[in-house]
Amino acid sequence: MGCFSYICPKCGNPIYADRYGNCIGEEVRLARLVKGKVVEWMRGRYDSYGKVHIPAGDGFKSEHFIIADSGQLIQIYDEKMKHNWLTSTWNNIVNEQFSNDKSEGLIAIHEKCWNSDWGNVQSKDDPDQGWNDYENPDDEEE
Ligand SMILES: [Zn+2]
Repeated sequence: MGCFSYICPKCGNPIYADRYGNCIGEEVRLARLVKGKVVEWMRGRYDSYGKVHIPAGDGFKSEHFIIADSGQLIQIYDEKMKHNWLTSTWNNIVNEQFSNDKSEGLIAIHEKCWNSDWGNVQSKDDPDQGWNDYENPDDEEE
């Protein structure tokens, strides 16, 4: 399966997939939307395959947040880099993304663009699959 990415709805630019090299992408918040409501989200560096990861020691971990039916936020650190989505299978999430119902699927927002509002519409797919370097990453080394 090839890489893919999304257009950030806040700034209109893609989530760049190679920000740190080796397909380690920009800092992003990524949410799964079901009927216009976010049910799970994660944050970290975009992995070019619909998930995130966070450098930790020699490997990566991930940080998930699940929103329970009660509205409670459940935070899960995954130290083993099993950073798959927890509320559904990947196949189902892909089906949601490519259905005609835009109130389902994934929302991807740059961490730097985050303003506490997910919106209720899935992010558009990036036609360049995250490889259009809209700004030179070398210009903003940390
Ligand atoms: Zn953005």
